[in-house]
Amino acid sequence: MRLRHRRALVLIAVTTLASTAAAPVQASPRPPTPEKVPVATGYGGAVATVDLDATKVGLEVLRKGGNAVDAAVAAAATLGVTEPFSAGIGGGGFFVYYSAKDRRVYTIDGREAAPMTMGETAFVDPATGLPYAFPEARVSGIAAGVPGTLATWEKALRKWGTADLGDALRPAAKVADRGFTVDSTFRTQISDNAAAFGQFSSTSELYLPGGLPPEAGTVFRNPDLADTYRLIAKQGTGVFYRGAVARDIVDTVQHPPVADVPIGTWAYPIRPGTMALSDLARYQVRTPSPTRVSYRGYDVYGMPTPSSGGQAVGEALNILEQTDLSALTRTGALHQYLEASALAFADRNRFVGDNTPRPLLEQLLSDGFAKERACLINPAQALVKPVAPGEPDGAYGGCAAGAPSPAVTEGQSTTNLTVADRWGNVVEYTLTIEQTGGNGMVVPGRGFLLNNEMTDFNFTPTQGSAADPNLPGPGKRPRSSMAPTIVLADGRPFLAVGTPGGSTIITTVLQILVNRLDLGMTLPEAVAAARATQRNTAAVLGEAEFAPEIPGLTALGHTFAASPEIGAATGIEFLSHGRFLAAAEPVRRGGGSAGVVWPVAGS
Ligand code: GLU
Repeated sequence: MRLRHRRALVLIAVTTLASTAAAPVQASPRPPTPEKVPVATGYGGAVATVDLDATKVGLEVLRKGGNAVDAAVAAAATLGVTEPFSAGIGGGGFFVYYSAKDRRVYTIDGREAAPMTMGETAFVDPATGLPYAFPEARVSGIAAGVPGTLATWEKALRKWGTADLGDALRPAAKVADRGFTVDSTFRTQISDNAAAFGQFSSTSELYLPGGLPPEAGTVFRNPDLADTYRLIAKQGTGVFYRGAVARDIVDTVQHPPVADVPIGTWAYPIRPGTMALSDLARYQVRTPSPTRVSYRGYDVYGMPTPSSGGQAVGEALNILEQTDLSALTRTGALHQYLEASALAFADRNRFVGDNTPRPLLEQLLSDGFAKERACLINPAQALVKPVAPGEPDGAYGGCAAGAPSPAVTEGQSTTNLTVADRWGNVVEYTLTIEQTGGNGMVVPGRGFLLNNEMTDFNFTPTQGSAADPNLPGPGKRPRSSMAPTIVLADGRPFLAVGTPGGSTIITTVLQILVNRLDLGMTLPEAVAAARATQRNTAAVLGEAEFAPEIPGLTALGHTFAASPEIGAATGIEFLSHGRFLAAAEPVRRGGGSAGVVWPVAGS
């Protein structure tokens, strides 16, 4: 803690006494060591992540008097160690924050930025005029954008935290030094990436020791990352954006550390990128105001562009609000959910990118536009997909559909965390390096992977004769689907939720909200429920557990294809009398970790 926060500490002490006094008798006298459980109820603050180590670190920060932002950054830094294939300082993300003091929601856009040299055809092979195959584009220097994660942490702590960055990085550095136990998810993520990782000396040294992924149950250490965190703790983010680490990042992008003797074969050339020191030096996070829609009396806040999360979740909710889902059969409600999602995706694909003007975004989130879109839904018959985008022009009343536009979807990795403190502050934070394993390149000597976020741009125009809002451009940020979401009731936090999963992020957040707000599920039930995703494609993708819903929906004209598990959500619900209900996945990604500072006995 910095000295200038002594006043905050005194306040913390006073509030702690007050909240302890108010806590019911069944709260345990000392916080027990958290175990890995997907649901926790209690007092004093809550953390939900995909990983026990990260949740423990976040809870410890809260227990010692830190606030939700301090705990979120410390937990995120720990995820950079234990979930390095999903997120880390080589990537970016979106941070949504409810400030209890201001009773307002704020955001930080820490999305990766394209180098200033990146043009519209960056992913088109000059030799053939054709776009690169996805794996070729992904495992390249071209794919890496200027990372925004560290700048996000710094901004969040400066604006709202009580810890400094060094404090927040220390527990994670400890985990990186001391090591953590490899689980089957960690091992599988390496074996799934072995061909890409094996091409680079730095990555194979770290993640393929002796040529193989580490065994589940063994202890994994990352001393280089511990050193990098300590270096940043000591010297500040300047060392990353303008100093020695910046030089190493640029070197990795421009001269990928290809192994003399690669492990396994890779079918594509490894192309360097053009990111320069000046690109890192000019990187800034942005702090746009959140998107907001009202839904059944709640206020739902999300992330604006360059994420499409706030637009697509918000537009779909606006469409759904035209119908009372609780009065429908389960099949009828799911039909509405799938149709609203397809319509919102059509508009996302046509209109949403980094340069979308804010007034256009507001039109996409307007009730007038939603009514026009909702009237296309036939309760008895599924629309033919892909559906056409609408006309968010401010003049509403019709029910016309234009020409269909092709669907656009993306891959999956990423991680999400939710933190709340005893003062009522809330963080919902989704962070990523894009694909599981990013671009496959560990920055030599630094212990972290670079992202491949630039492949979230469309490689070639996707919107026929209309302009594509998501083509690459200098300094541009690729469109995201990340949808960290905070729901308020009467201006106070009611629920916070988010998930990874590429463009399925949008449908997963939407489905959890519908499950919770319309279909009578508790938050843990809403998170655990079987998922299906309709992103304006011919077939709905459904998890195996969604099978019982399929006959009814097929009768309405939906078609289905099987999907492996979708997403890995975390969330917190704010119960009465200051109680928190933290929820993570019971099964997906090996199960997540929910915790509260003071558990209520029996929860
Ligand atoms: N890169 C994706 C996005 O920004 C996230 C990747 C994922 O969640 O799998 O939308």
